[in-house]
Amino acid sequence: MAAGRQEVIEWLGDLQRIYTENRELLTALDSAIGDADHGINMDRGFAAVKAEVDTNPPADLRSLFQSVAMVLIRTVGGAAGPLYGTFFLRASAACTGKEVLGAGDAVAVFRAGIEGIQQRGKAEAGDKTMLDTFLPALSAMQEALDAGGGLRAVLEAGTAAAESGMLSTIPMQARKGRASYLGARSVGHQDPGATSAFLLIRAAADRWA
Ligand SMILES: [Mg+2]
Repeated sequence: MAAGRQEVIEWLGDLQRIYTENRELLTALDSAIGDADHGINMDRGFAAVKAEVDTNPPADLRSLFQSVAMVLIRTVGGAAGPLYGTFFLRASAACTGKEVLGAGDAVAVFRAGIEGIQQRGKAEAGDKTMLDTFLPALSAMQEALDAGGGLRAVLEAGTAAAESGMLSTIPMQARKGRASYLGARSVGHQDPGATSAFLLIRAAADRWA
């Protein structure tokens, strides 16, 4: 199995619905340790992505990911807009010349996007950010690929690791972003960015493979 332009467009449509459905959850998580806007931002951003892709469907994967990046950077506020924008921009470059994404391509796309977030946000594992979802997911995807797994196996391994990674943020004390101002009071709360990152990967597993 491989994911082409159509599967990626369907995934983006799923994300629009998923972030609307989870707007209150993400807002509640962000109100505990942040400024209570993550749900609103992600919902607004992916509604704008869906509208743009519906109106102006890009011809190939590279331009599709690039278009998503531009819309997110323009419409998503806070730290999340530039970070998810960077994810899609780097993913776009990793799609250059590809019409479909097989298992190895999917890992390359996520690797490019996640490394872009890491460079942009300057966060590390254990800082209680979206990277605590993304980094273990990427390692698990690479391991599944190295073990000979196809696209489904790779994305399912990534989703399982993303979920554990998301939950691992609960006992962490934040060292990056607005939550870090809370110090020890950030302990005991699941990170909203780690949660939106898990939703993104799980949706890819449901639609790409
Ligand atoms: Mg916020």
